Amino acid sequence: MAWFKKQRKPIEPPDKQSRVPEGLWAKCPSCGQIIYNKDLVASLSVCTKCGHHFRISAADRLRALFDGSWTEYDRGLTSTDPLKFTDTKPYHQRLDASIAATGLNDAVIAATGRINGTETSVAAMEYSFIGGSMGVVVGEKITRAIERAIAGRLPLIIICCSGGARMMEGALSLMQMAKISGALARLDRAGLPYISVLTDPTTGGVTASFAMLGDLNIAEPKALIGFAGPRVIEQTIRQTLPEGFQRSEFLLEHGMLDMIVDRREMKDVITRVLRFGMPMRTSALQATVQPLLAEAAAADQ
Ligand SMILES: [Zn+2]
Repeated sequence: MAWFKKQRKPIEPPDKQSRVPEGLWAKCPSCGQIIYNKDLVASLSVCTKCGHHFRISAADRLRALFDGSWTEYDRGLTSTDPLKFTDTKPYHQRLDASIAATGLNDAVIAATGRINGTETSVAAMEYSFIGGSMGVVVGEKITRAIERAIAGRLPLIIICCSGGARMMEGALSLMQMAKISGALARLDRAGLPYISVLTDPTTGGVTASFAMLGDLNIAEPKALIGFAGPRVIEQTIRQTLPEGFQRSEFLLEHGMLDMIVDRREMKDVITRVLRFGMPMRTSALQATVQPLLAEAAAADQ
């Protein structure tokens, strides 16, 4: 049974054909500049005139971050629709449509690769997969990415882009907040750095858990970051919210973020942070391995 029913038909799109071939140019929604798509790709989808950051896919994020190819993990994990949930249409249909549209099986890509030479475990969220929502699969893949970082003594980066928990998986999706936070605590105890990159938008249960738990929380300019939407907050506190509320700049000013970094400089900044955060890597490894080697040598004699 459907929970909600649409009474009216949606408005039909105009059938007038555009004379401009699709996909050749893009218009900046902020300044109106018409940008050649090739130029946009070259500038990592940042408007060359006003610096507006277009939304990009998880794969493009990894491409911008890693030196070359990367190793992807847990690609095959898919949701089993445990609640057999139906809203305007069955959840399994939504899943199938998103899988067909994005080529991914859920809203995150987990990978390891080199960032200017430093091997790193990265999880990048995909907004076009049901709003980048965090269900059981997203929770599991991110948790495994953290565990991979601990096992391999790697730094961790999570690129957040999400509408929050996935309501079609109910309480099971909310449990992912605690699961991921627990894994991050283990990463912290292992003395490994975690960088959270918050992009437009990062909201709901993702903000309320791992997005804000980074040793360093870095946001892209003007990204929407918040827990509940501004309308809900206004209704609850019965006050008008200030200008620019829930944007990166506002959050930085109020101590919720460590820095705001332009996407074109993100890799350089992350490289510097990783070199600062992982200086003991070789010596720490030796300190762990040497007693084991000595033990093995003693056992041989
Ligand atoms: Zn612009």
